[in-house]
Amino acid sequence: MKATRLCRGLTLGFACWAAFSMTAAAAAPSPDLWELARQNREVHRFSTLFTAQDVRGRLSNAEGLDAAVAWCKRTGVTKVYVEQFRDGYQAEREPTLRARERFLKEGIEPAGCITPTRVGKSSTGWKNTISCYTDPATQEKVRAIFEYSAGLFDEIMIDDFWFTDCACEACDAARRSRTVTIGGQNWPVAGDTWADYRGELMVRLSREYVLAAAKKVNPRARLIIKYPQWYDRFHERGYDVARQTADFDRIWVGTETRDYGDARWGGTVQYEAFFIMRWLGNLGGEKCGGGWFDPYGTTEKTYVEQARQTILGGARETVLFCYGSLLRDTGPANVEALRGEMPELLRVAGQVHRRDLVGVAAYKPPGSAPETEARVFDFVGMAGVPLRPCHTFPSNAPAAFFSIHALKDPAFTAQLREFIQAGKPVLLTDGLAQRLGEQPFLKAPHVITLPVKGDPKSLLQMNAETLESVRAPLLRPFKTTFSAPNQVSLYLFADGSWVVENFNDQAVLVRLNGQELNLPARAWRYSWRQP
Ligand SMILES: [Zn+2]
Repeated sequence: MKATRLCRGLTLGFACWAAFSMTAAAAAPSPDLWELARQNREVHRFSTLFTAQDVRGRLSNAEGLDAAVAWCKRTGVTKVYVEQFRDGYQAEREPTLRARERFLKEGIEPAGCITPTRVGKSSTGWKNTISCYTDPATQEKVRAIFEYSAGLFDEIMIDDFWFTDCACEACDAARRSRTVTIGGQNWPVAGDTWADYRGELMVRLSREYVLAAAKKVNPRARLIIKYPQWYDRFHERGYDVARQTADFDRIWVGTETRDYGDARWGGTVQYEAFFIMRWLGNLGGEKCGGGWFDPYGTTEKTYVEQARQTILGGARETVLFCYGSLLRDTGPANVEALRGEMPELLRVAGQVHRRDLVGVAAYKPPGSAPETEARVFDFVGMAGVPLRPCHTFPSNAPAAFFSIHALKDPAFTAQLREFIQAGKPVLLTDGLAQRLGEQPFLKAPHVITLPVKGDPKSLLQMNAETLESVRAPLLRPFKTTFSAPNQVSLYLFADGSWVVENFNDQAVLVRLNGQELNLPARAWRYSWRQP
């Protein structure tokens, strides 16, 4: 009976359990992606970016422009970001204008972008990439770049180097005097830590020399701040997701998780893309435009997994960074795999947008420090706990997960007590439990401790017994039972729809609400209830 109900809930008529492996998708007759992408651009849009260097090298002659347009159409790309600045180089006006007009004529929406690398005086931290924004000449350079861009485009993305890690003498003096100075004007800083100073500096510089400067040149200019994927360290380098999201017209989300095992780029699990997309999506609401990933350190499988997680994260657009990189190394194979999966990704995006995500609330206050529990949310998600990321205390959630991050909230302990006393299941990290100390309310039977042991990555090794003891009580309010090996993620929606994704290199057997599912390696399955 249960199985029949689930089958009826599916919108895909040809199979009860919709499983797609990449080979199956690739073998299917290739649809006209351009037409499909145009029809679906309100649901989900794929876009790409041309770096300032690619404007010079690939878009400044007729053959290059033809090739770029053809690639976009073959890849279902209906929007392009044409960059004005990167690595100290500013793209020239004439080729930029010609590219802008050509894309417009082809039905591909053009926008601008600025990557603030090598802007002026180098940072003492990440040398020759990141800049010292205390330096007045560097500040003026910022203003000039944004004024130039606003004269060319109505929409400007800022790539995720809009931060500083400089600790030069000038920065240190300004930090100690608790004063941000821009164009001769001073603003007080609330504290004397580097996080305090850099946060205030980047907020003020954004307001004065990015937003105000661009809008003075072009009142239609809309600026997008793209947040990097390293969410636990934003506050250390001047990203203030609360104030900057309020200030900017739109926000964007870095979902470039790449390959966990890659020697150069590794260490990030796939679920992080979903977590950060939902966390910032929740924070930004309508302002949240989409996600952004790249091909570095990926295989076809992990490249496509980035796309799936971005879409499950509720993104309305995916930026494929960037055209030049996608033409070399692993790029072409990645793009081919993505093209094969694109029709399915667009269908899933449509289903995701129609529904509210439900799950175990995962609370990360803005600007919270991880201490010994860096990015613990990603690993809890990989363990099959369906998370619903949030940035404010989840008082109304049916179940919740808390880590050391929550201590950023001064009202946390009182709110947690109330939450637990309401009888709702709670998962606490061992680190947080230790910090909270001997509290009678923590002894309630529905409080479960997660053994992080100061090493979140070790959660990938949790055995079946531990996984079961963590998941079962948390899933009870959702009337869901789930048993699966580690690294199989679960996503739940308010109407009973679900998604399961297997990140293992082996096929796995999963039991969801009594139903057995055989998931091939690196495959996902889903069930959408009809309204
Ligand atoms: Zn400095």
